Amino acid sequence: MSDMRLVVVGAAGRMGQALVRAVHNAPGVALAAAIEREGSPVLGQDAGLVAGAGITGIMITDDPLTAFAQADGVLDFTIPAASVAFAALAAQARVVHIIGTTGFSADDFTKLNAASRHATVIQSGNFGLGVNVLAQLVKQAAKVLDLDYDIEIVEMHHRMKIDAPSGTALLLGEAAASGRGVALNEHMDKARDGHHGARQPGDIGFASLRGGTVAGEHSVIFAGPGERITLSHSAESRDNFANGAVKAVLWGRGRKPGYFSMSDVLGLAD
Ligand code: NAD
Repeated sequence: MSDMRLVVVGAAGRMGQALVRAVHNAPGVALAAAIEREGSPVLGQDAGLVAGAGITGIMITDDPLTAFAQADGVLDFTIPAASVAFAALAAQARVVHIIGTTGFSADDFTKLNAASRHATVIQSGNFGLGVNVLAQLVKQAAKVLDLDYDIEIVEMHHRMKIDAPSGTALLLGEAAASGRGVALNEHMDKARDGHHGARQPGDIGFASLRGGTVAGEHSVIFAGPGERITLSHSAESRDNFANGAVKAVLWGRGRKPGYFSMSDVLGLAD
């Protein structure tokens, strides 16, 4: 089979650069185009040079329409407004759309779901193997431990991150809620400030720390009577997410349109 032709959008971003390097190094895929926002200072530059992967001959442009029409898949770790717009273009071009962007609103998710009628959308708050395995462990623990065990999710990321809680923290919260058989949005407690009263039984709490260059730290704490269980993950680089995104796009090749997650790709979904 010929190499899968991929577009990296947000190619100059932290994740975009990791994706360009991953596509450059992985077998079975080829970089077909690299896209940045209008007015970006890197337009016209070689995507490989920007990413530290050497010359690729693929110059960064701001024309996703032309790029998607000539590609098989799109790797998208950008911002919610851009990903929603890319989802509509990916649906028109009927390509595989990997969405790693986080911070979507409920309205954004409705639009991504609509796009998945025509595109193979694979969306996840975390494309790494480790966090997806951790989510399964969290689900199991939440199933066994009763409401005497308070669930708190703590995350830390670099100072430039613009959304909170992180997409990974929400993914872990969903896993905990699903283990308990409840809906996360009815039990999440994201903002404690001032005289907020005692913790409600069954709440799933979130705390977000920001600073330095941290790629991603997550802990899920089950605080029970006289004991605590902590399940944690530390990301040491972004390569893990980028390699997972490449694995996901190859999994999506030739698959019918639909909305999938990384746990589908890894065979962890139940
Ligand atoms: P970043 O700010 O370094 O990069 C985002 C890039 O997108 C920028 O270069 C920006 O110019 C570009 N962009 C914005 N609008 C655009 C548009 N309309 N067209 C083309 N490019 C556009 O951010 P980052 O640290 O790389 O993170 C990006 C996203 O990925 C965030 O939402 C982050 O939370 C998420 N993320 C997800 C995972 C995961 O595994 N799901 C892992 C890491 C980061």
